[in-house]
Amino acid sequence: MTDNSLNILTFDIEDWYHCTFLNIPEKEWDKCEGRIEPQIEEILKLLKETDNKATFFTVALLASRYPQLMKRIVSEGHELAYHSYSHKMLTEQTAEEFERDLNKSLDIFSSISQQKIVGFRAPYWSVNDKNKDFVVRILKKYGFLYDSSIFPFKTFQYGDDKAFRHPNILNVEGGVSIYEIPPAILEYADFRIPFSGGFYFRILPYAFIKRGIKRINTEGYPAVVYLHPYDMDPEQPRIIKGFKERIIMYTNQKGCGKKFKKLLDNFRFGRMDEYVRRLIVRS
Ligand SMILES: [Zn+2]
Repeated sequence: MTDNSLNILTFDIEDWYHCTFLNIPEKEWDKCEGRIEPQIEEILKLLKETDNKATFFTVALLASRYPQLMKRIVSEGHELAYHSYSHKMLTEQTAEEFERDLNKSLDIFSSISQQKIVGFRAPYWSVNDKNKDFVVRILKKYGFLYDSSIFPFKTFQYGDDKAFRHPNILNVEGGVSIYEIPPAILEYADFRIPFSGGFYFRILPYAFIKRGIKRINTEGYPAVVYLHPYDMDPEQPRIIKGFKERIIMYTNQKGCGKKFKKLLDNFRFGRMDEYVRRLIVRS
């Protein structure tokens, strides 16, 4: 049965060769055989069958390689949003580099579609206290309405245990602010549990994920789900070497696809930009 609360479905659109664990130089990416086309075809088909909409945070270099695929995403009613130029962590960029990449990327997106890009998610949730001032300032300068880059749970790679768990307004220096829409994280007494995307979504039982989404909804918010096309693609090249890295990237890709289908049947999902526009109207 479908729950009537409207949740938010997001994808980070990158291919297997963008993963930093592999360290493949950017100039060799075009030689890598991509998996993104069959992955997105399958996702679009499932979204259409279940009448759900989503936001696709897309690496701009990938968009330039597959413009027709990007056009399909837009023509089927989904949001195209920004997931960096070349999937570099923001912790390795200066403000100037971030802005230069954004400029190049917006040129790519505008050559593909007329849909204005208004949302950003940093690779590896890499917005933090050190870079958030310049990130928000530059996003606002280019007309962005929201950011979705702060993971409100501390992991060994990223995240902030103290960050607010629900949609909020991120204020930075100089009186500049932007809507911050974080992924859904559960909180019990003094601990938090990620469950709504990526590795966590792959390893957790569906019943737990379902209860988690309902709990976020009873707290009065939409649950933000985040997935990568590779999360549910057991056919992708599985060539990462490190033990921990292989666990993070490859565990239960087959089961993930099944859970994703159940999720689309049990809940209603919409785009992140439409949710933010409703917040703006209400404010
Ligand atoms: Zn990414």
